[in-house]
Amino acid sequence: MTVQPLRDMSGQSRFCQVFFDQVRVPIDERLGPENQGWELARTTLGNERAARSLVEASAYRRRMDALIELLRARGALDDPLSRDRLARCEIRVRILSLNAIRTVAALQAQGFAGPSASTARLYHSLLEQEFYQLGVDLLGQSGLLTAGTGAVQNGRWVTGYLHSRGATIGAGTAEIQRNTIGEQILGLPRDSP
Ligand SMILES: Cc1cc2nc3c(=O)[nH]c(=O)nc-3n(C[C@H](O)[C@H](O)[C@H](O)COP(=O)(O)OP(=O)(O)OC[C@H]3O[C@@H](n4cnc5c(N)ncnc54)[C@H](O)[C@@H]3O)c2cc1C
Repeated sequence: MTVQPLRDMSGQSRFCQVFFDQVRVPIDERLGPENQGWELARTTLGNERAARSLVEASAYRRRMDALIELLRARGALDDPLSRDRLARCEIRVRILSLNAIRTVAALQAQGFAGPSASTARLYHSLLEQEFYQLGVDLLGQSGLLTAGTGAVQNGRWVTGYLHSRGATIGAGTAEIQRNTIGEQILGLPRDSP
């Protein structure tokens, strides 16, 4: 097994690619029936999206409070247009919480995550990008520094912005989440093979 850290454009390595070369696993260690691996992968991804939804809802509540406090202290909220953008983002943070509750309720009721996990994941990934874009925009030039004199909170917001670019790819792309929502929630025709 080879583990290779992947460096993203923020310069950090937060995840890896893992190669399994010539790895053999005893048959009694196999999870589920033969040739049903995709079902397992889908269930695992659904659980990842569902489990993260509550964690992200509380994380964004804290991040939003921190951003409001910071912007207020820097006088960045004197402009009504900035306040308007912040208010829109605040509404989305609250919707994120409601979506998370819906996802966890579905998990409790049916025993598996189901397609509502895709709604939560899509909403969260789009919010992540909007949130950090807003932070970087409203913090001005010093908000773009990742380190050194003048960097705002050690570059926390611009680093978040750089990470957020991959949010609509990780745990399944936004297009795949939209396909799941379209087909399994809205009952639209299936994606052609
Ligand atoms: C930050 C980050 C963290 C990650 N963490 C992990 C991890 O911990 N573990 C792990 O295993 N993987 C991880 N990944 C990998 C991630 O799950 C995949 O990159 C992602 O699922 C997309 O798969 P792919 O790269 O093969 O793209 P592809 O499936 O090749 O897709 C390429 C493009 O085609 C589009 N596309 C593909 N199929 C369709 C379709 N049917 N309809 C419409 N559009 C389509 C996609 O939306 C995308 O834009 C991570 C990726 C990122 C960016």
